[in-house]
Amino acid sequence: YCATTKSFVSLRPPLPAAEVPLTFPALVLSLLPSPLPTQPALLDAATGEAISYPAFLSQVRALVGALRSRLVPLGRGDVAFVLAPARLDVPVLHLALLAVGVVVSPANPALTAGEVSRLVSLSGASVAFAVSSTAAKLPAGLPTVLLDSTHFRSLLHLHNGRDEKEPAPLELDSTGVVCQSATATIHYSSGTTGPVKAVAVPHRSLIAQALGFHALHLHVKSRKVKERTLMGAPMFHAMGFFFALNGLARGLTTVVMTDTGTGTGLRGMLGAAERWEVTEIMASPPVVLGITKHPRRLTSLLRVICGGAPLPGSVAEQFRRRFPHVDLCVGYGSTETGGISLMSNQEECSRVGSTGRIYHNVEVRIVDIVTGEPLSVGQKGELCVRGPSIMTGYVGDNEANAAAFDSEGWLRTGDFCYIDEDGFVFIVDRLKEFIKYKAYQVAPAELELILQSLPEIADAAVMPYPHEEAGEIPMALVVRRPGSKVTEAQVMEHVAKQVAPYKKVRKVVFVDSIPKSPAGKILRRQLPNLVPSCHVSR
Ligand code: AMP
Repeated sequence: YCATTKSFVSLRPPLPAAEVPLTFPALVLSLLPSPLPTQPALLDAATGEAISYPAFLSQVRALVGALRSRLVPLGRGDVAFVLAPARLDVPVLHLALLAVGVVVSPANPALTAGEVSRLVSLSGASVAFAVSSTAAKLPAGLPTVLLDSTHFRSLLHLHNGRDEKEPAPLELDSTGVVCQSATATIHYSSGTTGPVKAVAVPHRSLIAQALGFHALHLHVKSRKVKERTLMGAPMFHAMGFFFALNGLARGLTTVVMTDTGTGTGLRGMLGAAERWEVTEIMASPPVVLGITKHPRRLTSLLRVICGGAPLPGSVAEQFRRRFPHVDLCVGYGSTETGGISLMSNQEECSRVGSTGRIYHNVEVRIVDIVTGEPLSVGQKGELCVRGPSIMTGYVGDNEANAAAFDSEGWLRTGDFCYIDEDGFVFIVDRLKEFIKYKAYQVAPAELELILQSLPEIADAAVMPYPHEEAGEIPMALVVRRPGSKVTEAQVMEHVAKQVAPYKKVRKVVFVDSIPKSPAGKILRRQLPNLVPSCHVSR
């Protein structure tokens, strides 16, 4: 605890600030082992197609060359929107775009055309990368490169005449350098309140994340074991985006769950984990629960890194009983914190219920939710974080930025927690509005607008309802107009037609009124009182 800043500092050794100028791709290359690993960099879980480290670097370099030659109309500071399922060429694309200073903005390919066009206008993207099956969702007129076209394949295989046995520097734009404070990515999140917003994350953030991860030393002790990590998080989400590229910095094989008809659900993931003898799985809590219940033995598995949503203590206990030799490392972070803020390493992961200790170079302050006063050990309050990895801010949204940061630069996370005497943090509740359906964010405000557009509905509010498998499902509290006989099924269908499947309303309760403040704001903390069965205890 630091009395001067009234905050908690990390017990992990402080890491020196990375040299400037440095981009995230340049850092990834500098962390790569030399000589290059002989195991594949990326492996397609469905087809077994693999890309070696030399081939990966060659493709990145070819694409960087193509971007510099303006074969794609994108330059430093421009935003590229990526709407693609998980594919082996997506990490190549991401790294090449970052290397020339293009801002990468990946989005969920399951979104509807209406949702996609809102995100494109939020980020200001000038070019999109998509596949044939997702391109139709993009706004008309947005220049688009298809990843499954011969044109794109030719860009990846432009001859560059280099021998890739050793990583060579990816030179930056000759007209200037891309600095660490430059925006690297724009992801999407509703934050603590309201509709979805565009979250700008700088290169500095990805660099800090990767250096911290490197320092955690999460690796197998025996050199004989070839580490393979199975990407259970989608590459468009901040966590999956980082981990796909961080796997390269770690020199291991990243097994990618591509959707080629074999299914990317739990069954597909566990089948892939066994088939490819993975040593690590990046998983959300529903997947950890699934692994625990499934009969597969997963004999090669040594580590699970779980994050994205609360992992109930009971699930962690069950997992440990079933797989006593597997380390269950829990991490906490958000799109806004730019990734990991708390994490347990191999030695610390037996602390059940905790989301780990403070990450390298991160500061934590826990504040009283009424007075805003900083709290000390054992006292519950809102988690606030500061450090090199947090977002620069919401793009073009001063009001949301003013609400997210305080005057000393602390980012309010909207998560309720306490820290114990040994520096372990326990997230005990969520103060913010959003719902986590299988670790995917669903913004109540977005669904409420859609519900209110149905003439039969006088008023509506959306809140999380506990669900064993999904963690939470979106539940609508609906006030019918007088005389209306609108049914639960009709309400659900009205929403389902307009949103991506993970955002669907999955339960409807009809109520007499929605509690509101005098200013007309929904009093969300009072909503659970309308449906007593929805109180969640963590
Ligand atoms: P996202 O921006 O989609 O990554 O969502 C971030 C939010 O997910 C956090 O603010 C938390 O509410 C929740 N979250 C992520 N990881 C954890 C965790 N390990 N335990 C509890 N909640 C988590």
